[in-house]
Amino acid sequence: MYENLAVRLNDREYKNWVKGGHCLYILKEALHPFIDEHMRVFHRVLLRDKPSLGAQCPRSCRSGDIKLSRACAPCLQWKSEILNHHRQPDSILNWDNCIPSAWRTKHWELAKAYMPRGQTRVNAAHQCDPSALLNLINYCDRFAFVHSSYVRELIKCRNELMHSANLHVSDAWMKNFKLALTRFVQLFSQVLNTTQVEEDLTRMLTVDLSICAIDAVDYTDMEVEDDSMNYNISPELISQWEADLLEERLRELRHLAENETMDAEQLMMLDGFLQENKDLSQRFSAELQAISALGGGQRKS
Ligand SMILES: [Zn+2]
Repeated sequence: MYENLAVRLNDREYKNWVKGGHCLYILKEALHPFIDEHMRVFHRVLLRDKPSLGAQCPRSCRSGDIKLSRACAPCLQWKSEILNHHRQPDSILNWDNCIPSAWRTKHWELAKAYMPRGQTRVNAAHQCDPSALLNLINYCDRFAFVHSSYVRELIKCRNELMHSANLHVSDAWMKNFKLALTRFVQLFSQVLNTTQVEEDLTRMLTVDLSICAIDAVDYTDMEVEDDSMNYNISPELISQWEADLLEERLRELRHLAENETMDAEQLMMLDGFLQENKDLSQRFSAELQAISALGGGQRKS
């Protein structure tokens, strides 16, 4: 049933891509409860220190009103608080992520102001992808304890991985990525127990997924260098990880296409990859076609 997956994972650099991408999801799973709680406290502190932020928005302001600074007074006050706590207030903020009138009551609407595009329908920390959480940590000064060069290094790795047109990363790249991951996780060891996540990441970086991908394999006569079979990683599970990554990639391409800044070659290469892998093309080709139809593939900024 998972023959196509097994063939894909025989390609070492593709296997690296899946493993690296999944490491970021392991990290996200470990961090999101902490990040959520941190933002909840941040929201509470803002309201306590500036009670006027608790005033209700009288006219359901939208993100466009914030961009054009024509929102109501309470929403504009929230905007200025968000900028006050932004590590790079001169950068472009993605106000479209937010419902301004909900800033007063929902801490996650506040969090979304510090994230990349595409968060409109995300309502809670656990629904975010790794990139969203990393950007929040990078931009919101509530996370001042996180060394910004370390989080930026990890964001750079994430972008290189996700933007790899052929979905491949080299062994040398993985080595550097491992270093960036380790440094980043260690920053959190002061504030939460990171033992489990460190173990999970090490396991993911050392396990041989091509062995795990073989369905119902008989290990008795095989000499396996690591203990892949002890990790209880099924082909079904790897296939899900792969799907999460491809969905994230497609989401990003969709946002680029909507803004007419998509690189057409990236879309073509992903299309080629899906065509070669029938199991994946069945699942994702409709979304890919929808992105092509947006027409953003013609231009590149
Ligand atoms: Zn308002």
